[in-house]
Amino acid sequence: MKRIGIIFAMKEELDAFLENVKVINNYKIFDLNFYECEYNDKACILVECGIGKVNAARCSQILIDNMNIDCIINVGVAGGISNELKIGDIVVALNLIQHDFDLCSFDHKKGYIPNAGDYFYCDDYLLNQSKLVDIKNIHFGTIASGDIFVTDKNMAKKINTKFGALCTEMEGASIAQVCHLAGIPFLVIRSISDTPNGNNNIDFDIFLKDSANISTIFIKKLLSLIA
Ligand code: SAH
Repeated sequence: MKRIGIIFAMKEELDAFLENVKVINNYKIFDLNFYECEYNDKACILVECGIGKVNAARCSQILIDNMNIDCIINVGVAGGISNELKIGDIVVALNLIQHDFDLCSFDHKKGYIPNAGDYFYCDDYLLNQSKLVDIKNIHFGTIASGDIFVTDKNMAKKINTKFGALCTEMEGASIAQVCHLAGIPFLVIRSISDTPNGNNNIDFDIFLKDSANISTIFIKKLLSLIA
């Protein structure tokens, strides 16, 4: 995999990575800025997609259509919804689901999308290389995405038990859906910035930068392991 698309939701997450690399090309498509840089013999195309599933999905498709990439990695922060997670831990998604997609009235399971399915599975090769990354406090499991910043403890518990998810965020599963439909390998990596407790928006603001730095450390190590 020689050309790797890397999607971040927020500027803080993108900047944590950009600080470490030299940008060699810059492309603008609509409002999106794509930064091409070289890292470990690979071309990385970095982009900030904006928050939420729609922003993430349209950015993924634009990246696929215009940048000739071999895979997409989505990097960022997330809310921990499993007891085993603490702020700063890393979650690598085995698979992702959209916890707010609901056609239950038609006897479909929550999260099931008729043309695409429910759980989207990350690429085996990228997952295997992730398992070789030497870093502490890493977990592998399900990530649940939805257009909600989850603060409510009960909602967090429900997402955790219904979908078996370790953490929740607002982009990963929509990027996964677009990649699945386009046949592009993908991986989603998140570091925990907060734990839903009624006022985790405060923790989020405090830990965003540190958590974004942790994801960056992970992704840099991973990039050196991808052939
Ligand atoms: N501070 C921003 C909003 C951040 S939304 C503003 O004022 O505009 C939270 C972002 O971090 C999303 O991109 C989401 O993917 C991730 N995230 C972190 N914790 C989350 C949580 N508890 N619930 C949902 N998304 C979370």
